[in-house]
Amino acid sequence: MAKKRGKSGTARAGKVGRVILKISGEGFCERGGFGIDGGALRQIATEILDVTRLGVQVAVVVGGGNFLRGAKIAGELGIQEATAHYMGMLGTVINALALQDRLEEMGQPVRVQSAIAVHSACESFIRRRCIRHLEKGRVVILAAGTGRPFVTTDTAAALAAVEMNADILFKATNVDGVYTADPKKDPKAKFLPTLSYNQVIDNRLKVMDVSAVDLCQRHSVPITVFSLMKHGNMRKAVQGKTIGTRIGH
Ligand code: UDP
Repeated sequence: MAKKRGKSGTARAGKVGRVILKISGEGFCERGGFGIDGGALRQIATEILDVTRLGVQVAVVVGGGNFLRGAKIAGELGIQEATAHYMGMLGTVINALALQDRLEEMGQPVRVQSAIAVHSACESFIRRRCIRHLEKGRVVILAAGTGRPFVTTDTAAALAAVEMNADILFKATNVDGVYTADPKKDPKAKFLPTLSYNQVIDNRLKVMDVSAVDLCQRHSVPITVFSLMKHGNMRKAVQGKTIGTRIGH
């Protein structure tokens, strides 16, 4: 049976108490680039700080596509695909550590929890500990996705939203929501302000992995897709204002 939302216990009418923010690796670098860009890192940290100051609990699931994606490099390098996925997960740990320090530098307490053990650099994921950190006002950055190969950090974000009783899942992109086609390539692409889970799944809209959307649907986790590059978007989203594309039943 689908669980009731808003169990974080911190949500007030129409507002968000606990959020899972999914940031793809491409958010950490310049468009089409590689590695981590200082400006992009500062922008992400600024937007997160903007909502933690409102008392919102934020857990961030970071992607790693700015370093590598397992499915793509396995063939290129002639290595086992499972190994390539573990390499991809390690890429997400790099992003997590960078974001941790950037946020701390701006005065925000942070913990990184990784789904694969990286004892010398960060904590391992422990659900109850993660929730405790959030309750204490710390941002938790969840690294290494699910800890298992052949899936992506979108699925990890959906799992985290369900597991941590988040009120909503935010998917940060580099455009302002979901369009019928890529607006950077197709000038006729139409903006879609609201979508049902089924519309996303049936039309194979490239918003999130189908498995992630399916999980959110089964557990009634609403998803908002918006650009993190525009200052104030995330604050508006937690305040229940219309921003980006809203996905629900
Ligand atoms: N990955 C994985 N298991 C997970 C999450 C990620 O194997 O649970 C690997 C996978 O190879 C993926 C890479 O890590 O391509 C980087 O994650 P993702 O593609 O989700 O990053 P994003 O596209 O969000 O930058």
